[in-house]
Amino acid sequence: MNTTLEMSKQTELQTAKNYVEQVYRTIKKRDPHEVEFHQAVKEIFDSLVLVFAKHPEFIGKGLLERLVEPERVITFRVSWVDDQGKTQVNRGFRVQFNSAIGPYKGGLRFHPSVNTSVTKFLGFEQIFKNSLTGQQIGGGKGGSDFDPKGKSDGEVMRFTQSFMTELSKHIGSDVDVPAGDIGVGSREIGYLFGQYKRMRGNFEPGVLTGKGLEYGGSLARTQATGYGAIYFVKEMLKNKGLSLEGQTVVVSGSGNVSIYAIEKATELGVKVVACSDSDGYIYDESGINLDTVRRLKEIERARISEYVIEHPTAQYIEGCSGIWTLPCDIALPCATQNEINEEAAKRLVLGGVKAVGEGANMPSSLEAIEVFLENGVLFGPGKAVNAGGVAVSSLEMAQNQSGVSWSFEKVDRKLHKIMEDIFQRSLRASEEYGHPGNLVIGANIAGFNKVAKAMLAQGVI
Ligand code: GLU
Repeated sequence: MNTTLEMSKQTELQTAKNYVEQVYRTIKKRDPHEVEFHQAVKEIFDSLVLVFAKHPEFIGKGLLERLVEPERVITFRVSWVDDQGKTQVNRGFRVQFNSAIGPYKGGLRFHPSVNTSVTKFLGFEQIFKNSLTGQQIGGGKGGSDFDPKGKSDGEVMRFTQSFMTELSKHIGSDVDVPAGDIGVGSREIGYLFGQYKRMRGNFEPGVLTGKGLEYGGSLARTQATGYGAIYFVKEMLKNKGLSLEGQTVVVSGSGNVSIYAIEKATELGVKVVACSDSDGYIYDESGINLDTVRRLKEIERARISEYVIEHPTAQYIEGCSGIWTLPCDIALPCATQNEINEEAAKRLVLGGVKAVGEGANMPSSLEAIEVFLENGVLFGPGKAVNAGGVAVSSLEMAQNQSGVSWSFEKVDRKLHKIMEDIFQRSLRASEEYGHPGNLVIGANIAGFNKVAKAMLAQGVI
């Protein structure tokens, strides 16, 4: 009896594997150059084999085939005039990936690396992240290959207005609600909002999130991704009887996510010894001074290398990858995709890392994740750890709809609860599917199940 049961389980697992592999092969064949997108799909698909083995009835409903095909991909020309009077042309993108559980929701990224593959990987991740938050938001992402580095304020404004002139035709508070991401902060959201209002002729606060407080923004939205990441890591440690207090932490990046992760971590008794920008990193053994980092990056838009001018005991090291050679208890990659490869992961393990929390989207390569899991490092995947930003975006939308503004404490409390719930949901799914504590599998499955149910309920569309 037992062997028969075992055999049928094996067959179901094999059937599920075949199905998932076949869909994966199709996407690689269709778009062979979209390597970032393939990576994001592979990570999810490896987990979803377990779902299709448990629910063979889902196979044949075209779930995965539909899931990997964005509902809509918009690409457009963005022409603008620089300070020298020269015409510049960039590319604009918006991927409206999945609206099964709500309007498309996800940030805009302005960075030279942005292309269809990057936008699709980010949009794909966003589907599961947004589902995990428990809010009614679908998955989308957009951006441009525009490089804000070294651009004047006027150039950023002219580019952004040109970008929104086209984007405004495709978004709306019940349709698609963009926000910020790398290279898009409060200044850019302000220009985007102004141009949307001008194009559409109405004041529609729910069309964008991350807005300024004066025109419909939410308190605690700026802090949300960084704070949320720390709340998640705190839960992850607590579940193993560990505490954040007294731990040494390395944070990569020095943008919005990093700054507020450092702020919350420091408040909870953690020593953050390093952070970085795209040129290099600083190491301050006694704990980095957040006021200096914030002034340099947020106000002066300067390079992190200038930190050592004010703090001569700290070190500046050119190049980013070396940051993962620093020994630490907790690593928080908050910069960008694939910043931790297999080699870096091995160095972190050698340095005694106990936990990794991904503040950025897909900062660890598939091989790196493998290294962490094999070595018993507590690993919080990006779609769970950094979901606090989009979760509070959804709270911003709720406030815009009701016309009421909540206090900082109220939003922060809700954020805290959402992050605890995301951790619990991911943990429960990991247990239910036979991999207790594997939060990659848990987050992927918990995120997927809600979207899958909604897709099945809505018929073949
Ligand atoms: N860009 C952020 C993310 O990766 C926030 C998106 C949003 O608030 O819509 O989740």
